[in-house]
Amino acid sequence: MNETAAPAASELTALAGRYWLPVYRPRDLVLARGEGSRLWDSEGRDYVDLAAGIAVCSLGHCDPDLTAALVEQAGRLWHTSNAFYSEPPLRLAEELVTASRFARRVFLCNSGAEANEAAIKLVRKWAASEGRNPQQRVIVSCRGSFHGRTLAAVTATAQPKYQAGYEPLPQGFRYVDFNDLTGLEVAMAAGDVAAVLLEPVQGEGGVTPVAPGYLRAVRELCDRHGALLVLDEIQCGMGRTGTLFAHWQDDVVPDIVTLAKALGGGFPVGAMLAGPKVADVMQFGAHGSTFGGNPLASAVARVALRKLSSPEVAANVTRQSRALREGLKAIDAELQVFSDIRGRGLMLGAQLRDQYAGRAGEILDACAREGLMALQAGPDVLRFVPALTITDADVAEGLARLARALRTFTAAAPASR
Ligand SMILES: *Cc1c(COP(=O)(O)O)cnc(C)c1O
Repeated sequence: MNETAAPAASELTALAGRYWLPVYRPRDLVLARGEGSRLWDSEGRDYVDLAAGIAVCSLGHCDPDLTAALVEQAGRLWHTSNAFYSEPPLRLAEELVTASRFARRVFLCNSGAEANEAAIKLVRKWAASEGRNPQQRVIVSCRGSFHGRTLAAVTATAQPKYQAGYEPLPQGFRYVDFNDLTGLEVAMAAGDVAAVLLEPVQGEGGVTPVAPGYLRAVRELCDRHGALLVLDEIQCGMGRTGTLFAHWQDDVVPDIVTLAKALGGGFPVGAMLAGPKVADVMQFGAHGSTFGGNPLASAVARVALRKLSSPEVAANVTRQSRALREGLKAIDAELQVFSDIRGRGLMLGAQLRDQYAGRAGEILDACAREGLMALQAGPDVLRFVPALTITDADVAEGLARLARALRTFTAAAPASR
């Protein structure tokens, strides 16, 4: 590679300022290459990656098996539309059904929002097929949730900051507090609820897992009131919490599960998995997608699913989760920055103490300067969602860089409030 011929990072990032709809605010660097849990920017600086995109690159960057599957399929057949069959989406659907232990059928799409959009439409279609009028097809979701940016998904996303200005929003959504069973009981009392939609571990909302027993109780409420249980595992699924599906740890059987993010290991793909109660509700013409089940995406996702289902990956999640948690605790013992460290598996959140509230973004800037990629979940929580294959050495180096960043941050920016 000819490094001297590369354009300056500032020359590239200026293009965003000029030409992108300014809805993103990336860190001020340009990533050029990745391998495993390491990234390199256009100027050759290396980063330890505790973000993995946003919990997407769960097998690390440029996993050789994913790359081989992509290249092999790229030399064979890229696209057919859903007017014709090709092998990868057929196989992927079968493998997802088998792996899920509950689903009968799969709808393949390209993103998380689309998977949730399909789930929302399926709930409504199911309720209609049960003879319920439109007022009796309410979908309950939780405050602090994140379900995506399309209009229905953002309406299910019970956070005002994502909805403001997009009114009128679709009707028939109702919100309850996460982990509040009494609130849910009240919300369902009128008998007009068709489904409860929630994340077993809230991601964007602050990395908050369901309380022990909560999901089982939600399942019972759904059964009592004739409602479906829809689980959004777009972020917490695909092995991230230590089991292929997060809800396995809660001992419940859902009616619908949505997947995306890590499903393609970095290649865009989403899926809605439908259980026996709803699998035959949508018939010919009821829904569709031009790109959904694209052969390239499906070929890659098949390999990602196989690798992310392996006991080796699950064992590494447990091992590195413990290492990361202990490292975060040690950093807090030195610097008094975190009031809570929570999450499951390799989906961890560190809540900033009150005096640092609102400053997660600044901390991530400091991390990037030290050669570390991490994420925030709102302004008060640092989020760590590394590749599930991350090594002992990369976790140790990532923690060392985080400690350096936080030492600089706390020294330069003591308590602001
Ligand atoms: C990221 C995410 C989505 C939306 O996925 P997109 O691919 O960005 O549309 C939905 N739900 C959860 C839980 C997510 O983390």
